[in-house]
Amino acid sequence: MTEQAAPSPLRAGTRLERVLRAGLLAVTAELNPPDTADPQAVYDAALVLSEVADAINCTDASGANVHMSSLGMAALLVRAGYEPVYQMSCRDRNRIALQGDLLGAAALGIGNVLCLTGDDVTAGDQPQARRVFDLDSLQLLQTIRSMRDGGQFLSGRKLARPPRVFLGAAENPFAPPIEWRALRLAKKADAGARFIQTQYIFDVPVFTRFMAQVRDLGLDQRLYILAGVGPLRSPRAAEYMRTHVPGVVIPEEVIDRLNKTPKARWLEQGMQICVENIAQVRALPGVAGFHVMAYRQEEMVAEIIRRAGLFPRVSAAALGSKPAPGRKPIAGSSRAQSVDPG
Ligand SMILES: Cc1cc2nc3c(=O)[nH]c(=O)nc-3n(C[C@H](O)[C@H](O)[C@H](O)COP(=O)(O)OP(=O)(O)OC[C@H]3O[C@@H](n4cnc5c(N)ncnc54)[C@H](O)[C@@H]3O)c2cc1C
Repeated sequence: MTEQAAPSPLRAGTRLERVLRAGLLAVTAELNPPDTADPQAVYDAALVLSEVADAINCTDASGANVHMSSLGMAALLVRAGYEPVYQMSCRDRNRIALQGDLLGAAALGIGNVLCLTGDDVTAGDQPQARRVFDLDSLQLLQTIRSMRDGGQFLSGRKLARPPRVFLGAAENPFAPPIEWRALRLAKKADAGARFIQTQYIFDVPVFTRFMAQVRDLGLDQRLYILAGVGPLRSPRAAEYMRTHVPGVVIPEEVIDRLNKTPKARWLEQGMQICVENIAQVRALPGVAGFHVMAYRQEEMVAEIIRRAGLFPRVSAAALGSKPAPGRKPIAGSSRAQSVDPG
């Protein structure tokens, strides 16, 4: 798995890819999987996000807690006419399962894939589960790229029809040692990632320094970086996130600001902090969009996207693509960006 980085000759043609390649600010939203076999739960949560986001991320047992599978959710979203980002973590499946799932996903019409190493089992509610980690995020990216561009499995066996997927990865600009994060990002670009979704940004100055490093390395020319944002519901929720959600860093002053707010206004203040962060991050060169997350609070995600001026989204017609069946065309927003990472 030592392929050189090369612009992909095949394009997935997903809405997310088209928005980014058109130089428009993209918005993705995280959909947290329900604990039910009822597809309606997925449809209900997705409905709120469908008009405010270019694509909807389906998490893969994040925090190492079991929920409905990412593949199952993504397939349901396609069926409903929405565009998913299928998140694939290496924690629970080996290379045989991952390659098979990827082919199945592509066959089901899933076009965006986020490659993750994944949270460790010790983060979840079943820490005795056996961890797999046969591949990591870089190897998964390389594997899928070679399936897509080389038309073969890792074994060298040929594929009758290669999967057409737009490849992405996650990055946490706040994970120590932070001075290494942009270098790790370069490895993800080399491995085949074209879009990046970051961990929650609550510390804008640290993210600003990260983006300066990203630009110094020329990575803003090779990657579309979607900045991860989300609201804090209360000081307790903020404290929980920073102590229990791996990789989330929330500065003391943000917690203080919530603590000084009357309880009745916590929700409002949490959303206000998020909207302010979006405004600051949006001004940073190299930021190609936002990834908005709020655990099982899809209405809040939609509200933040509206308040932050990220709505309405560009119409499918303006992108030169047909709207997916069942999805209403939505109106435009624009941002000048001259790069095309290939
Ligand atoms: C947008 C987004 C979506 C995510 N979705 C999921 C999901 O669906 N399922 C899931 O299980 N996890 C999810 N995660 C969590 C993510 O898998 C872990 O935070 C992971 O440690 C870092 O991301 P990665 O998987 O790309 O790993 P890589 O970037 O490949 O990093 C793996 C290695 O880097 C080091 N590392 C990375 N972050 C840290 C850190 N915070 N502290 C210490 N060492 C670190 C560790 O050595 C780790 O083994 C998501 C994260 C983000 C930002």
